Amino acid sequence: MTDVVVVGGGVAGLVAARDLAKGGAHVVLVEAGARLGGMIRRHTVAGLDLDLGAESFATRTDAVERLAIELGLGNDVVSPDPRGAWLMTRDGRTAPIPQTGFLGIPGSPMAADVLAVIGQGGGLRAQMDSLLPSPIGARAQSLGALVRKRMGERVLDDLVVPVAGGVYSTHPDQLDPDRVAPGLRAALQREGSLARAVLALRSRATAGSAVQGIRGGIARLVDELVADMTTYGVEVRLGPRATAIERFAVETVTADGTRERLPAQHVLASTADPARTAAPDRTGIELVTLVVDQPELDAGPRGTGMLVHPDADGVRAKALTHATVKWPWLAEAAQGRHVLRLSYATRPDGDDASRGATRPDGDGTEPTETGTSLPVDPDDAVGTRATRDATALLGVPVTADRVLGAARVHWYGPDLTAAGLAEGVIGIGETSSGRGLAGIVAAARTSAARILGS
Ligand SMILES: Cc1cc2nc3c(=O)[nH]c(=O)nc-3n(C[C@H](O)[C@H](O)[C@H](O)COP(=O)(O)OP(=O)(O)OC[C@H]3O[C@@H](n4cnc5c(N)ncnc54)[C@H](O)[C@@H]3O)c2cc1C
Repeated sequence: MTDVVVVGGGVAGLVAARDLAKGGAHVVLVEAGARLGGMIRRHTVAGLDLDLGAESFATRTDAVERLAIELGLGNDVVSPDPRGAWLMTRDGRTAPIPQTGFLGIPGSPMAADVLAVIGQGGGLRAQMDSLLPSPIGARAQSLGALVRKRMGERVLDDLVVPVAGGVYSTHPDQLDPDRVAPGLRAALQREGSLARAVLALRSRATAGSAVQGIRGGIARLVDELVADMTTYGVEVRLGPRATAIERFAVETVTADGTRERLPAQHVLASTADPARTAAPDRTGIELVTLVVDQPELDAGPRGTGMLVHPDADGVRAKALTHATVKWPWLAEAAQGRHVLRLSYATRPDGDDASRGATRPDGDGTEPTETGTSLPVDPDDAVGTRATRDATALLGVPVTADRVLGAARVHWYGPDLTAAGLAEGVIGIGETSSGRGLAGIVAAARTSAARILGS
């Protein structure tokens, strides 16, 4: 009998399989797709190898950096350019994201960089936070309600909606403060004001940047994990889809209908239970990458990029990353060209929803399958939308004739409405540990260590 079957060959499955095999377990990894890496993947645009999904990891834990060091990538862990990002408000104003904030909530409401966004009146209302009794807002059900009560509508709409909303692709009224800002409520009670709570959380955070990347791209983590797994003898099955995931066995089926039952002492799954998975009806995102030859962008007019109010006038993109400003290694590789990555919220598209196809709201462009990079003609609907948005966001004309290459991809996350696994199956990955590499890597390694220690 196999010691462990791991379902899903994304980063969670790869990390767990590698650790288990390294610890001496016989591991079978089942991945339904044709390749390993899941949401970590690269594509080539205008000759540049670029991350197609995740491009950084949070440093709130050292889990990813430690893994990178073990994989021989320690010297290639890099911090982003310190210039930071900008935001665009509902009425189309642009400004650097204030420095002492957290998810857009200002730690110093009367600081010049805050007043530049919310104005004097907004600042005075936000300042009232310091006079309110600390219980006010402390039991708010959402981040939006908490900020509104303490600091008023301007802070919420001009700062927190673009910043927190941009990071989580959700309005702050739908964000649970304890999930996106653990410790914030307790700090509010302790410190007596939201601004001081923000400053307290910031001072607790590790020094340095909140995220890091890998020179050459995050996809290098997957390359090294796969190489290591092979060395340690993980048996990889590419193609079979798990149709039943049980405590001591996984059933799979291949495209030609061949079924197999894989008994195991332990089963780890980085997917939802296939028996429970409903038709995906969730929203996702579309990324459009542009490689442009536009020397006016050399100055990095909006720092590392922009987070955009969802109702910003005349702009459809929700965020723009100026990747060649954010990552100096990429600027070097791009040799004067610029890499811009725009993201758009998408919704499921009728019958195509079952394949995970989504399209930006009502733009009439063709949907594509999740995770597949497709070239974009800068003159077609998608290309025109992207160059128009890049122009509006960067304040520099980005025209089709300057586009050297463009590509688009749709992504949608796991169907969390169908999350949950059969009893005894060990859940890892985004479905169980939430979005983001920092939490996923740490949790997958803990699960592997528990099995090895059992
Ligand atoms: C555009 C984008 C940008 C992101 N940016 C960042 C970022 O900058 N920083 C960050 O930390 N995180 C980021 N994330 C999130 C991060 O990429 C994911 O949280 C993480 O990669 C998820 O890894 P996973 O292994 O849990 O899942 P996945 O990568 O989804 O892997 C699951 C695997 O399971 C396979 N599978 C599914 N069902 C079955 C089945 N029934 N049988 C067999 N195999 C199956 C799938 O094919 C897939 O390969 C981003 C995500 C996206 C989409």
